[in-house]
Amino acid sequence: MTQKKKKKRKSSTAAAAGGDEAPPVRKCMHCEIQKTPQWRAGPMGPKTLCNACGVRYKSGRLFPEYRPAASPTFVPALHSNSHKKVVEIRIKASQRAAAAGLPSLESVSKDSCDLLAYIRGRE
Ligand SMILES: [Zn+2]
Repeated sequence: MTQKKKKKRKSSTAAAAGGDEAPPVRKCMHCEIQKTPQWRAGPMGPKTLCNACGVRYKSGRLFPEYRPAASPTFVPALHSNSHKKVVEIRIKASQRAAAAGLPSLESVSKDSCDLLAYIRGRE
């Protein structure tokens, strides 16, 4: 027979905490950075990319090798925050793959030149 019920939470505190609208930790789907001035839309939906990655994604230049320098997953040998560097990394990787015994050396280097020409034309 308990007439007095102990209230653990007042409804006002739950409302002040923001409810369950905002996830506790949001991170970029691409570079896993958690701090960004603005969240942007990506392939996984709105507000799934950080500002830097979102801008790249919008312009069609969000390659796996692109990563903001502030990203916790940034590896200087594998990533760059410069698009030109990203292209260089990609070309080197494809050349290394070709040197490792893949048969399409000619087509790879030809594609690389096309890619470079394309980049230089844009920038
Ligand atoms: Zn990002």
